[in-house]
Amino acid sequence: MKLVTRAQWGARPAKRGLTALPSARGVKVHYVGSRVNPSPTKTCGAHCRDMVRGIQNHHMDGNGWSTIAYNLLVCEHGTVFEGRGKGIMSAANGEGLNGGHYAVCALIGDKGLVEPTDELLNGLVDAIGYLRNHGAGREVKGHRDGYATSCPGDRLYRWVKAGARRPDAPEEKPIEVVIKNGIAVWPGRVLELVDPMMRGEDVRAWQARLARRGWKVDVDGWYGSQSRSVCRSWQRAVGLPVTGRVDEATWDSAWSWRPPTPGEVDETN
Ligand SMILES: [Zn+2]
Ligand SMILES: [Zn+2]
Repeated sequence: MKLVTRAQWGARPAKRGLTALPSARGVKVHYVGSRVNPSPTKTCGAHCRDMVRGIQNHHMDGNGWSTIAYNLLVCEHGTVFEGRGKGIMSAANGEGLNGGHYAVCALIGDKGLVEPTDELLNGLVDAIGYLRNHGAGREVKGHRDGYATSCPGDRLYRWVKAGARRPDAPEEKPIEVVIKNGIAVWPGRVLELVDPMMRGEDVRAWQARLARRGWKVDVDGWYGSQSRSVCRSWQRAVGLPVTGRVDEATWDSAWSWRPPTPGEVDETN
């Protein structure tokens, strides 16, 4: 991720203290709207920094806000600009909605530069991944979800609804889980916490199995930090190496492991 810090783009200090938000359900995607002029250069430079500074001025002087509303902003070159940054509540989603999601703004509009470039989409995925590493859950939504606005524009909103993927990402092949004699055959993929987050029927089957064994885990098909932590506890409980990754041995143990029964070794009394 190409990150430009507040100091690097010449941010003004915030007027007032900002509200901490250590975690949220996910991220909402925004756009600038109105006219956005495309960069005159192929590489990222003064044009994009000026645009971010202009948005900050508008939010502080026009709207009277403490500082720029967004957590992060992403330009057509794929550069990620630090707005409020990680762990801070945004002011972008609308009243009552800022505690639920962080906010990332794409620097495109509804005139001039309207088409998100591949670099911009990759930058958005970088920005969302960065926030996920710092408290954001897996949801990706548009500003218009739950709020009366056309933001982030139809093009970006379609991308959000299609899964907010990198433009060159291959279509995910559905993974099938085959059950033989009540035991799920390992589908062959090691489950681990990665960015973008793994999801699939294999994750769901493993979660469902652990839930049936009484472990507190959401059966949602996403291998997030909760799944990893349950995996570690499970591995510790059954005496496997504690990796937080569901490899073949960890997968099999979820179906085959039985607690030692003292009765079997103590039948002769
Ligand atoms: Zn918006
Ligand atoms: Zn740029």
